[in-house]
Amino acid sequence: MAFAVTSSSATISGSRFSRSSSSSDLKVPKIGSFRLAEHHATVNLSRKRCAVKPVNAEPKRNDSLLPQAASISAPEVSEKVEVEDFEQLAKELDNASPLEIMDKALEKFGNDIAIAFSGAEDVALIEYAKLTGRPFRVFSLDTGRLNPETYRFFDEVEKHYGIRIEYMFPDAVEVQALVRSKGLFSFYEDGHQECCRVRKVRPLRRALKGLRAWITGQRKDQSPGTRSEVPVVQVDPVFEGLDGGAGSLVKWNPVANVDGIDIWNFLRAMNVPVNSLHSQGFVSIGCEPCTRPVLPGQHEREGRWWWEDAKAKECGLHKGNLKQDSAAQLNGNGAAAHTDIFNSQSLVTLSRAGIENLARLENRKEPWIVVLYAPWCPYCQAMEESYVGLGEKVAGSGVKVAKFRADGEEKEYAQKELQLGSFPTILLFPKHSAKPIKYASEKRDVDSLMAFVNALR
Ligand code: SF4
Repeated sequence: MAFAVTSSSATISGSRFSRSSSSSDLKVPKIGSFRLAEHHATVNLSRKRCAVKPVNAEPKRNDSLLPQAASISAPEVSEKVEVEDFEQLAKELDNASPLEIMDKALEKFGNDIAIAFSGAEDVALIEYAKLTGRPFRVFSLDTGRLNPETYRFFDEVEKHYGIRIEYMFPDAVEVQALVRSKGLFSFYEDGHQECCRVRKVRPLRRALKGLRAWITGQRKDQSPGTRSEVPVVQVDPVFEGLDGGAGSLVKWNPVANVDGIDIWNFLRAMNVPVNSLHSQGFVSIGCEPCTRPVLPGQHEREGRWWWEDAKAKECGLHKGNLKQDSAAQLNGNGAAAHTDIFNSQSLVTLSRAGIENLARLENRKEPWIVVLYAPWCPYCQAMEESYVGLGEKVAGSGVKVAKFRADGEEKEYAQKELQLGSFPTILLFPKHSAKPIKYASEKRDVDSLMAFVNALR
């Protein structure tokens, strides 16, 4: 149902706004088939639109925060606001080029949208924005733990494009409390979520509260587990925008369908500056303690938080990529009613007593490989075929392949005694040692699992 709105449009000239009288349609986000604006309303849109809103709640450094490209007219502001179906728009734009998608995003949201720039190959987004000829804004999260090369790269990008990046910093009191109580590297001990929450997610949340839309460099090929369904545009499933509440923020992913190699071809063709860490083997770039180069053939996400297993490596910035059900379950809140998985005669089902006995034995007759799983976990479901295949392959060879359901009441025990970090966790109990060895890779195909068993049996 449409809003009836009276407004006027604005033109940005350098840092000043002036008004013109033309109009276009402005859309209000819609989640799925649920329409957020279900009643008629009259809105004084000009009040909302005519202030230059900072990406954060603090004042801007100065008016030059608007990029040089801002001397071009800003998008027209509508007289009519209609409910926008972003699912439909995503379908329409699915085959569009990143440049077309970027242009559409900037056209629709003007000064209310900003590019989230991480200091890696997502510099391509800035290049695309520049090519549209429209004004654009860029923000970045300075966690305080970035590589020196990334800081230098930020500076280079600012100079190359004649822009000021709107940096967001973590809350000093929160960082202080975390570091004083747990030290500088607590994420190696108890996972990266807490530190990421303080240094990344909360600053991001503040940034997004000053916007109606944001632009990310997420691509489907970046993480087979969590990003394979990223649409080119969506109502943000996690964060809120300026108006607050569900559906108040739109997330654009213009390179969702582009392969990493094509991003690099584009960067080279356009002679775009790149972070010097890339030439040292870094593909995915984040904080210094949590990012490492990857070897040829390794997936780029294996260079992030490598001490944690599973494919669920989203830092919280794009947590909506995890299906809601899965995200709740990964946080340990899930319901238990799910059909069991790994049902095969080649696999041994271990009870709590069974795995306790196995863990106690110093000298086993044969090595055991055990998956700690939860039937609702999508990553466990994804490896079901290969794990059952492993069981069939090693049947009769003296290796036992087993499963232990480690969610619900068993979770605490598995976390304490069996190194359970996230699902699935795969352990090898070797023949002559009580201590199980945890499988560290995200590759869970039959050959990789076989190589693990053969190397350690
Ligand atoms: Fe902290 Fe590492 Fe997350 Fe950076 S990536 S915020 S250092 S846990």
